[in-house]
Amino acid sequence: MPNSIVLVKQVPDTSNVTSDAMREDGTVNRGVLPTIFNPEDLHALEAALELKGRYGGTVTVVSMGPPKAADVLRDTLYRGADRAILITDRRAAASDTLATSYILSQAVRTIGNYDFVFAGRQAIDGDTAQTGPQCAEKLGIPQVTYLLEIIEAAEVDGEQFATVKRDVGNGWEILRVKLPALFTVIETANTPRYWSVKNMMRHKNDRTAAEIPAEQVEAYKKAGRLIEQWSLDDINADLNRCGNIGSPTKVFRVQSVVLTKEGYTDVPPTQEGISNLIREIVSIKTI
Ligand SMILES: Cc1cc2nc3c(=O)[nH]c(=O)nc-3n(C[C@H](O)[C@H](O)[C@H](O)COP(=O)(O)OP(=O)(O)OC[C@H]3O[C@@H](n4cnc5c(N)ncnc54)[C@H](O)[C@@H]3O)c2cc1C
Repeated sequence: MPNSIVLVKQVPDTSNVTSDAMREDGTVNRGVLPTIFNPEDLHALEAALELKGRYGGTVTVVSMGPPKAADVLRDTLYRGADRAILITDRRAAASDTLATSYILSQAVRTIGNYDFVFAGRQAIDGDTAQTGPQCAEKLGIPQVTYLLEIIEAAEVDGEQFATVKRDVGNGWEILRVKLPALFTVIETANTPRYWSVKNMMRHKNDRTAAEIPAEQVEAYKKAGRLIEQWSLDDINADLNRCGNIGSPTKVFRVQSVVLTKEGYTDVPPTQEGISNLIREIVSIKTI
């Protein structure tokens, strides 16, 4: 029975970026922006739940973010996840993908006993699509990006393999990959299931320690209502590889790009039209 770990991110609703979205120091002012479940992570979760439906096993969800990210974890429990873990620590703030993937890989190691790691192909805020592949690299496991389907998970000569289908743009390919492995999932892979009423009733009062008064934590734990909350110490993270310290990339500025009439040119679909366009974008060093 394969065990899956799913990496999900709470992201700012980028269709609603306001002027105070960025702080002076280039970090995202997450407190002021409405947040949503990163769309492709819903498909990553669905891939894990489908697998569990076929082969059994468990689905554990991990999210790194501020305490408010507990909202997406409750959402995953309503959809059928078995366990949810929030990695939250002020020392992780302003982590770029290098630091984020390190922290997530430490969390995956700490959970252990996994066969599949699922991530979304891309987050709609950073938009780098780097975290999944970087996480696989740090875990030293194979990675398959643009996953469309897990065709089969089977044991061959005592070893676990998965046969999968991935999108290659103008078609798809079938791969067999040795497990454990990491998969980044795209939105065309499946249709995320809705919340089940049974799961909602069961988990609607689940809280992380950060969301409740300290004196109530034990009671929540006893009642099985406590969503696990881990710090960087709980995952034995090297603090030099986390947060601002561990991030060579600094986000300089984020702004909404609004296309105006002046902002675009009609390109005639002719050889000459295309050649002029390429010449223009080369001259303005866009490529
Ligand atoms: C506008 C903007 C631009 C940025 N540009 C860069 C940049 O160029 N280089 C850079 O290194 N950093 C950049 N960052 C920082 C980057 O957003 C964070 O490091 C982020 O945590 C991971 O990168 P991403 O958002 O691109 O996610 P992606 O790499 O696109 O995420 C892919 C998948 O990884 C998983 N994942 C990502 N973050 C988390 C998380 N916190 N918790 C759980 N799962 C997660 C999800 O499954 C997600 O679908 C940028 C941030 C912003 C807001």
